[in-house]
Amino acid sequence: MTEPDRRAFVTGAALAAGAVVAAPAAAQGSGGAKAATTPAAAAYPKPPFPVQRQPWPGLASKMNPRPDHGETSYKGSGKLAGKRALITGGDSGIGRAAAIAYAREGADVAINYLPAEEPDAREVIALIRAEGRKAVAIPGDLRDERFCRKLVAQAAEQLGGLDILVNNAARQQTRPTIADISSQDFDDTMKTNVYAPFWLTKAALERMGAGAVIVNTSSEQAGDPSKDIVDYAMTRAAVLNFTKGMAKQLAPRGIRVNAVAPGPFWTPLQVSGGATPEKQRVFGESSPMGRPGQPAEIAALYVAAADPALSYSTGQIFGSTGGNGQPA
Ligand code: NAD
Ligand code: MG
Repeated sequence: MTEPDRRAFVTGAALAAGAVVAAPAAAQGSGGAKAATTPAAAAYPKPPFPVQRQPWPGLASKMNPRPDHGETSYKGSGKLAGKRALITGGDSGIGRAAAIAYAREGADVAINYLPAEEPDAREVIALIRAEGRKAVAIPGDLRDERFCRKLVAQAAEQLGGLDILVNNAARQQTRPTIADISSQDFDDTMKTNVYAPFWLTKAALERMGAGAVIVNTSSEQAGDPSKDIVDYAMTRAAVLNFTKGMAKQLAPRGIRVNAVAPGPFWTPLQVSGGATPEKQRVFGESSPMGRPGQPAEIAALYVAAADPALSYSTGQIFGSTGGNGQPA
């Protein structure tokens, strides 16, 4: 931590002492001039959480407590100035935190999400625009190959090119046993979590040149799967493997491929079928930190994974697990 960072952190800690952590919906620019409002990590919510259930895919704006995506805290420093990024699942959770951070680092950002997530997406679009960056909203279902191709084409056309693809959207639905996972479930999980990154990567590479970066989202589940999300966990392992193979394939083209591997994070995925009510109530308890991460706490890794300054980093897995170890 640099001295200015440390000062900002301490200021944030003082401001947040005893405060309930919840990200305000309203857009607030970073600018660098405002006082830091980053809460001390210790002030982030711990289990037990109120039991809540939303229909899939869920909305961050309806969660209690509301996740902190860095709306009021993330400060950029031009790391991604002039880059053009497409982020899937950019409406909420980890993808939203990445979208806010990318915009504050100087990137123009297109987000994809499901039509049902329009209210969350609107908040993100407003936050990106508040930074004076271009924001493009492209709703649609990633289980469809034709849509995936269209998404990349539209994002590149509207942004004027494509430098960064963040494959972040995913489906996670808890099922007690393999007998409870229907072929339709399995197909939906594989299509969203494995096929879509494959289709999007393929389409993006038709437009990407040297210096471009692909950032995938894996999980600690890739190396330590839970017993009741086996189809989902398989996909996080597949993405990790895909990251490493594509990094080798694309190094000669000057295109890097990295992944971020989160541990438990407080996002709509978990309250819209990703976890049972029992698990959700104590979510994050088994992490050494005794709490889930907030999306704001991982955004900087998405920036790092795409940062041109880290030009020797490809095929890397950047972790944020609260202490439970890396999948690779
Ligand atoms: P989230 O619900 O906020 O984001 C997931 C997004 O996926 C949704 O917002 C939705 O827009 C998108 N999505 C799902 N199905 C789609 C479809 N068919 N078409 C288009 N978009 C679709 O939850 P999150 O936890 O931020 O998830 C983001 C990533 O983080 C996922 O890859 C997930 O596997 C990973 N992850 C999450 C956790 C966690 O504990 N929350 C842990 C490890 C990894
Ligand atoms: Mg969402």
